[in-house]
Amino acid sequence: MTNQDDFSNVISFVNGALDVPSSPIIPYIEGDGIGIDITNYVKEIVDKAVYISYSGDRTILWKEVLAGEKAYNKVGQWLPNETMDAFRKYLVGIKGPLTTPIGEGIRSLNVALRQELDLYVCLRPVRWFEGVATPLLHPEKVHVTIFRENTEDIYAGIEWAAGTPELKKVLNFLQNEMGVAKIRFPESSSIGVKPVSVEGTERLVRAAIEYAIENKLPSVTLVHKGNIMKFTEGGFKKWGYGLAEREFSDTTFTENTFNKIKVEKGLESAVSAYNTAMTEGKVFIKDVIADAFLQNTLLKPEEYSVIATLNLNGDYISDQMAAMVGGIGIAPGANINYKTGHAIFEATHGTAPDIAGQNIANPCSMLLSAVMMLDYIGWSEAGSKITKSLEMMFKKGHATNDLARFMHDGTSLSTSDFANELINLL
Ligand code: ATP
Repeated sequence: MTNQDDFSNVISFVNGALDVPSSPIIPYIEGDGIGIDITNYVKEIVDKAVYISYSGDRTILWKEVLAGEKAYNKVGQWLPNETMDAFRKYLVGIKGPLTTPIGEGIRSLNVALRQELDLYVCLRPVRWFEGVATPLLHPEKVHVTIFRENTEDIYAGIEWAAGTPELKKVLNFLQNEMGVAKIRFPESSSIGVKPVSVEGTERLVRAAIEYAIENKLPSVTLVHKGNIMKFTEGGFKKWGYGLAEREFSDTTFTENTFNKIKVEKGLESAVSAYNTAMTEGKVFIKDVIADAFLQNTLLKPEEYSVIATLNLNGDYISDQMAAMVGGIGIAPGANINYKTGHAIFEATHGTAPDIAGQNIANPCSMLLSAVMMLDYIGWSEAGSKITKSLEMMFKKGHATNDLARFMHDGTSLSTSDFANELINLL
C-alpha cells in the first residue's frame, strides 16, 4: 500500500478512453464482515498476476479508503467525503461488501456510491466454471454479459406510503387532474413512480452495443416488459432500437429493420438482409419480453450474448442467470459510467456476518470483479492469468466450502489455503 499521490500515478480519461499509467493508484474499500477476510487475498492475487504478466514493469498502488462499519468506527461517518473524493479523482476502484447503516439517512452505501458518481451501468458477466455444481444439463452454453440500467426505473425511490398526507396529494392529483380511475383500492394504496428516459436508455444501450462490437459478440438483446408498460419499458425498446439504427447503422442490424423489410418486401428479403449483415460481422440487435426471456434462458441460453435491460428486470435477471451456472456466490459485478470513466468493481454478495472472521469465505466474487477491473484498465493479460488458474482449481474440485460441498469430489479449502494455492498456480 502507498500514500504516494503523484499526478503520474492517476488514471485519467482522455478523449473517451482511459489513460492508465504503469503504476496507477487504485482506491479500495476493504468492506465489512467477510470483506475483512477476503480483500487482502484479492489484492495479493492481483499483485502477483500483474507482476508476472508484465515482468515487474506494472504495479497497482493500492490506496485504502474507508466506508461502512470500519469508517464509522474510525471517523464517525459511514461514507466519508474523502472516500467519495478518492473515487472521483482516481476514477477506478474496488470494494468489498458493506453493512447498510440503519436509520442514518442513507438507504444503502452501494446506492449512494452509484448515485454520487452517476454509475449508470451495472455490469454483470455470467459464465460457468467447469467443476462448479449447477442445476443445468449444459451450463457451458451460458455466456452472457448483462448491462443493467442503474439510475432509473422504480429504483429511483420515488414512492409514497399509504395513508400519508403526501400520498393523499398524489392521489388527488392523479384522480382529479389526470382522470385516473384505475386505482383499485385508493384509500389503502401506496404509490410508486417509474421514470425511464430517452437519455437513460440511450447511454445504457450505447454502452452495451459498444461492448458487443469491441468484443466481437454476436448480439445485444433488449429485455423489457413493453407489452404492459408501454411508455416506460416500451420506450426502452423503442429508444434502444432507435439508437442502434441511428448511431450504429454500419455495425449492427436490428430485428426492427428485419421486421420492416419483411412487411415491405417479404420474408425472403428480410432473411437475406439478415444473412448479409451477419456475414459482414454485424451485431444483431433484438428484443424480448422479460418473462419469455427468463424461460428462454433455461431452454436456449446460447441465443443470448449481451443483455441490455432496465433496473428491476436487471436485478432478477442477474441473479437468475448467475444461479443457473451455480455462481450466485461468486458472481462479479461493476458499476460504470462510460462517459466519465468512473468505475467501481465490487463483490456482489453481502457481508455474511454468520461466517465472518472464520477464514472460510469465498473470495471469488471480489476476485472476479478484480479481473473485470484489470480488463477495464486494459491489463487483460493479468486478468486472464487469474481466470485460468481459477478454472484449473474448480476443475479439480478445489474451492471454499460454499462451492466444494456441492462439487463432485470437492475439496473444501479455507480462504487462505484457496488464495495461496491460486497464487502458486499463477
Ligand atoms: P448483508 O446483510 O450484508 O447483505 P447477508 O449475509 O445477509 O449480508 P449475503 O452476503 O448475500 O447476505 O449472504 C447470504 C449467505 O450466503 C451468508 O450468510 C453466507 O452464509 C453465504 N455467503 C455469502 N457470501 C459468501 C461468500 N463470499 N463465501 C461464502 N459464503 C457466502
